[in-house]
Amino acid sequence: MEQLRAGTHYPRSAGEFQAWFRADEDCLDYLEWLRWPGGFTCPSCGHAGGWRLGDGRFECAACHRRTSVTAGTIFDRTRTPLTVWFTACWLFATQKDGISAQSLQRSLEIGSYPTAWAMLHRLRSVLVRPGRDRLSGTVQVDETFIGGDEPGLRGGRAPGKKVLTGIAVEAGEPKGIGRCRMAVLADGSAESLHPFVAGAVEPGATVITDAWMGYHGLAGLGYVHERRSQRAARARGDDPGELLPAVHRVASLAKRWLLGTHQGSVDQAHLPAYLDEFVFRFNRRRPASRGMVFYRLLELAAGHDPVRFQDLLASKKPHAQRPQPPQVRGHPPSLDRSRANWPWRTSELQLQLPIPLRLNEYPRRALFAADQPRAGFSHHP
Ligand SMILES: [Zn+2]
Repeated sequence: MEQLRAGTHYPRSAGEFQAWFRADEDCLDYLEWLRWPGGFTCPSCGHAGGWRLGDGRFECAACHRRTSVTAGTIFDRTRTPLTVWFTACWLFATQKDGISAQSLQRSLEIGSYPTAWAMLHRLRSVLVRPGRDRLSGTVQVDETFIGGDEPGLRGGRAPGKKVLTGIAVEAGEPKGIGRCRMAVLADGSAESLHPFVAGAVEPGATVITDAWMGYHGLAGLGYVHERRSQRAARARGDDPGELLPAVHRVASLAKRWLLGTHQGSVDQAHLPAYLDEFVFRFNRRRPASRGMVFYRLLELAAGHDPVRFQDLLASKKPHAQRPQPPQVRGHPPSLDRSRANWPWRTSELQLQLPIPLRLNEYPRRALFAADQPRAGFSHHP
């Protein structure tokens, strides 16, 4: 495709977003354009070309299979209107810290917490594109414990379990931070750390770690391995906690995000999904246009197989402190809005005014101009 342009291929601003996606049909057409930029291509047989049917679906000209724009994407069979989905995507992509299920439920009038919870988890599940580029250049790698509740933070809740997480960050020397990768680790052994590094970092890169023995042998995997010893740092009088400043910066941002946006209420089983979200947004923090991130998110969503509600729950129970899906599945109203008929011009308001002011007597200067009699304002005590 030609180069993406703000204002043509993705909205430049929240105002443009609202103007583009006023109705569900606007969203459907955008998805169609995203999925089949060169026109309909049959997902069953790959044939390019077909007909649009009266119900909005497509029929393949070769195999005659019928399909819809949303079939085979995470929007498949959704009962949540696309305007609601798009707004959720917009908030997810453009808010600096994303959005919590609770705020999403409130701001989009979604009927139930589980529905909002599942929408955000469906979005999280599309973020890691198979075959994405690995980190390159100089990469700092370390592991840290993330998650669990801060004791006393939310009224005496039992502290959750902290999870060992591997973090790899492209680091400029002496300063500057590039992209990052994070993954939950089984433990700190070489058997856990080596696959993490191999999956996150391009061979040939320089990998900087501390002297932990779990990192021994990285040179054998094709990396230039630089080890920084805490003992040596202490001997030099340096802060051993600052051996790997880029990783520690990213780790503290991620922890702060979990405590802030999600108020620490991220359970162990779902932590990998939240880490994916953090990494997705962190690696796209630079582009001037947040609308581009919205485009990328929708592109991933339209290219991802459907995610069943049960799959979100199967290995991963939502937090016990929250309403638990699935119970009542609320179906949010469409954001496809009709005109609000200018509520500020209702007659009730006029009745409350002490004077018979008729609000359609604008422009104001007719009422207030000093050189004209204020016909409408004369009081007769
Ligand atoms: Zn076909």
